Amino acid sequence: MRTKLAAGNWKMNGSRAALTELDALAEPAKGPCEVLICPPATLISEAAGRVEGVAVGGQDCHSEASGAHTGDVAAAMLADAGASYVILGHSERRADHDEHDEDVRTKTLAAWDAGLKAIVCVGETLDEREANNTLDIIGGQLAGSIPDGATGHSLVVAYEPVWAIGTGKVPTTDQIGEVHDFIRARLERRFGEGVGRSVRILYGGSVKAKNAAEIFAVSNVDGALVGGASLKAEDFGPIIEALN
Ligand code: 13P
Repeated sequence: MRTKLAAGNWKMNGSRAALTELDALAEPAKGPCEVLICPPATLISEAAGRVEGVAVGGQDCHSEASGAHTGDVAAAMLADAGASYVILGHSERRADHDEHDEDVRTKTLAAWDAGLKAIVCVGETLDEREANNTLDIIGGQLAGSIPDGATGHSLVVAYEPVWAIGTGKVPTTDQIGEVHDFIRARLERRFGEGVGRSVRILYGGSVKAKNAAEIFAVSNVDGALVGGASLKAEDFGPIIEALN
């Protein structure tokens, strides 16, 4: 059985004072699902270990272990600060920093070398969906972004349609189910049934307390990667509860 995962991506938001929001997750975090917050890198060490049951992750890492890369953070540094996960290949990284599948693949290898679990993000744009290319795009991103050797322990896949991020637009449950089933089939085909079935697949894009239960009922949805609604415990707590 796959352990459900409620992951919050704070993006470029938050402050040391805002970490009290984590304290308010202590109750929902006692439930069976795993709870993860990925704050900005500056907050990882203060967030890590602060609340029992709330794991902490990074939002990106460099593909190299160390060196002359001003402004970048290595996977081992995230791990040293207390992170156990890192989000890789988020569409905002792909757009803002021109990251491509091959970059995501090498970053994932770096994350694994540092003992981090990688949450590899895939998702189509609105143009790609309207051109009926969604599954081709997702298939290509999976093939190019995920290295060989993935396991259910080291890899989580997040399906985040670009057009659903921060827009309040959510795919229908049929659309979510179609993509999640497709991702599961691709993982099983590439890594074998055992591994393919053990990798968790998260949905991300305008997940809120009011739509969480409906989304979590879709086949092969093992949790969520939540942006805006992860910033406040009053919003994220009920999403965790919907998964518990
Ligand atoms: P929103 O939940 O704000 O739409 O963001 C989703 C996301 O990008 C999580 O990584």
